[in-house]
Amino acid sequence: MATQSFSTTKPVERGLQYLSKIENYDSSTYKTLAFYKFHTFTKAELEEFRIQLLTDLGEMGIVGRIYISTEGVNAQIACPEECLPRLQEYHAKVLKPMFNDNLMDLNIGTEHGLRSFRALHVRIRKQLIVDGLDSSTYDLTDEPSHLSPAEWHNRLTTYEEETGKKPVVIDMRNHYESKIGFFDGAICPDADTYKDSIDAMNDICENLPRDQEIFMYCTGGIRCTKAGAILQSASKFKTVHLVEGGITSYGRWVAEQEDKESLFRGKNFTFDARMGEKITDEVIGKCHLCGTPSNRYQNCAHASCNILMLCCPNCSGQFLNTCARLPCYDTVSEFIKQSKPHFEPAGAVLVDGVRVFLKQGEKDMDNGSKRIVIGKKGVRCDHDHISRTRAIDILGEPGEILKEWAKAGRDLPSKPVDV
Ligand SMILES: [Zn+2]
Ligand SMILES: [Zn+2]
Repeated sequence: MATQSFSTTKPVERGLQYLSKIENYDSSTYKTLAFYKFHTFTKAELEEFRIQLLTDLGEMGIVGRIYISTEGVNAQIACPEECLPRLQEYHAKVLKPMFNDNLMDLNIGTEHGLRSFRALHVRIRKQLIVDGLDSSTYDLTDEPSHLSPAEWHNRLTTYEEETGKKPVVIDMRNHYESKIGFFDGAICPDADTYKDSIDAMNDICENLPRDQEIFMYCTGGIRCTKAGAILQSASKFKTVHLVEGGITSYGRWVAEQEDKESLFRGKNFTFDARMGEKITDEVIGKCHLCGTPSNRYQNCAHASCNILMLCCPNCSGQFLNTCARLPCYDTVSEFIKQSKPHFEPAGAVLVDGVRVFLKQGEKDMDNGSKRIVIGKKGVRCDHDHISRTRAIDILGEPGEILKEWAKAGRDLPSKPVDV
């Protein structure tokens, strides 16, 4: 049976020939990196910048997601290892001058391997991160204090001794991110969106004296750069500290320290195919299906379900990377049984009108295994988008969903022999 491939790298509008050279680098090792900067662009500049990024980074085989807006730039990308020197030169000689030499350094992740994105996207957004506020109520130039990872570590370690009270540390990420890792003692709000995080931040700080130092962190720093500016300019807090480069750079720094214990525990959630990078060995979180400790996230392989859930490698194998709900399991199981020739190195292929993606497995857990995502086009998900990240609301406590199998008079699938 012939398979029809559709490219994930669409030519950009206006006939511009954009070709990401990713195919040339398929066997390469990729470095995952990020950079961001709040900076004022005009709308005309944005359109030009977008095409420039697509062309220049595409040339280097770079994949990832870049958002640009009149507020600035936010990039999460993966670069083939052999092109890293070229990217560094491009960053220093082309990008930095565009930001008055004020663009942050490339923030390199702690875990690498296969490509963590499928293609390169540069998207123009109204805001870099949506805060739900009227932007005239705060001043982004009122930047919070950027502590280096070493300063952040030392400040938090000695804070209580020096001031007699515990530091106020706020995790500015969403609930599912802090579920697998956080800074010891941090307040981790139950936030679905950045807007929720901002509301939570305001609630936490509302009754604090304005000279109280506030510490905050997120994955790479961008969310705190904005939140800190809001807290300082709108709520009149004197000093908000963030860790420069976020958990990513702290993780990289702490891994190099021989005499210091990490203040961050667990795993740093990332928004790419790796779904996280390890900072310490501690496993925070439980498999949603069997309840054993697990920090391995997966999306249900049934594309119209797509629940984000913690799932141990055993359950993942047993339930074919699905959430174990019967419709999801049956759809995927049925598809696999047909064993259509749908294996493509990357990107999406169509098999009998079914959308199929191959995803890269998480480096340590799924070494070599390709995850399959399956779903019929046009089939709507039966839970709303936000509860998609709240597996416990959909599946119940660990083990709960497996009772459905008994109720339907079905045996559980056999456990995988070799995970
Ligand atoms: Zn499990
Ligand atoms: Zn599912």
